Amino acid sequence: MLEKSLDRWCPAVGADGSAAPIVFQYLNVKGRRALTYPSTPSSIAPVPHSETLPVPKPPANLEYLQSTSADRHYPSRRELDDLIRDLQLTKSAAELLTSRLSEWNLLRDDCKITAYRRRHLDYSVYFDVIHDLCYCKDVNGLFDADGIEHDPSQWRLFIDSSTKSLKRVLLHKGNKYPSIPLAYSIQMKEDNENVKQLLLKINYAEFNWQLCGDFKMLGFLLGLQGGYTKYSCFLCLWNSRADGEHYKKIQWLPRKELMPGKYNVIKEPLVCREKVLLPPLHIKLGLVKQFVKALDFEGEAFQEIRAMFPKLSDDKLKGGIFVGPQITTILKSRTLENKMTETERKTWQAFRDVVNGFLGNNKDPNYEEIVNTLSTSYQKMGCRMSLELHFLCSHLDFFQENLGDFSVEHGERFHQDIQLMERLYQGRWDSAMMGDYMWFLIREDISGHKRKARSTVHF
Ligand SMILES: [Zn+2]
Repeated sequence: MLEKSLDRWCPAVGADGSAAPIVFQYLNVKGRRALTYPSTPSSIAPVPHSETLPVPKPPANLEYLQSTSADRHYPSRRELDDLIRDLQLTKSAAELLTSRLSEWNLLRDDCKITAYRRRHLDYSVYFDVIHDLCYCKDVNGLFDADGIEHDPSQWRLFIDSSTKSLKRVLLHKGNKYPSIPLAYSIQMKEDNENVKQLLLKINYAEFNWQLCGDFKMLGFLLGLQGGYTKYSCFLCLWNSRADGEHYKKIQWLPRKELMPGKYNVIKEPLVCREKVLLPPLHIKLGLVKQFVKALDFEGEAFQEIRAMFPKLSDDKLKGGIFVGPQITTILKSRTLENKMTETERKTWQAFRDVVNGFLGNNKDPNYEEIVNTLSTSYQKMGCRMSLELHFLCSHLDFFQENLGDFSVEHGERFHQDIQLMERLYQGRWDSAMMGDYMWFLIREDISGHKRKARSTVHF
């Protein structure tokens, strides 16, 4: 029997002072033997709240918890697809993510765990592999699969070749769509026969897209001899070695046709020169090259540029050999212009004006004057005339209405996308890889998300 006198009992308190409300302690040690403990919970009497036994407080985020449980969102297949694209997951990683989410009942019924193994199939059927070359065998079919119209006048063929690989992609004129890969080879050398075969394979003759690439590639497509040659312009007979006439003579005898065996043309042209787009990025690179080469190497301006790129070799610095992002760095520098001499600064500003007013997306109404100023200031500074400068000075009318639309920077973005795939596939380029690349370009859910994942363009 328990002693009924309540003042013998008190609520038990934990070692840290916290209350343990359902346990009571008996205060009189003497009567312990006589105790018979109850075996049912109903025998525990309620206790009033006190300082040691406070009323519990609701969690601070209670309102949030209540609101989110009400409109909890389970992703659909389309949303999951887009998330996997944003996270840039490989097929196996995508499958793992889907299976985990499925185990936790966080997916809608239309999400299939194994679907990602086959995600490339919709597109890979349009590609074929011969030797080391993977190419698109049905351009119209590929466009249909994406649900976009293929109007050849709205797309141009961008050819990128390095010592490592040869890539061809279609770029949309207004940058509205992402680039579409048409061919890829990591072994193929850029020789005339290979490129000819490649153009045949992707059916160039039927579509006749406009072409862009660097000057080397353009000259190559037009059958010009490589390297530093006397007649390197495909539009006229500009003599690159006649230093005395440069800057003075603007109109040179036009080339009527590109005839093999004449004026440094060594092969039958593979494409029509009217289809060629002059590459603004490479013109920029060419202009910077001539500018840097004409700088005083002991002068402050050159030292400043050297300090910007401590890892760049002296040969490259003195040769003015930079890449796109480096030009951006130089253009952004606030201190460089202060270190220049008067002539250097004027020339640099003329270059800046051409970049902003002609080679970029906005064409200045006075672009002819801007280009003229560039020519005179380059001459004053003693810069050598180069092919790039020659195009600006002598073939301004050949440039497209809006160079920005045809910008090679668009191709630069393609590089970033393709780098991801190269990392994922580590050089194993085949139809499945091209199909998978295409899968990454699609975006199914166009509703906006709070946080944007990637700044790439999608269909
Ligand atoms: Zn010319």
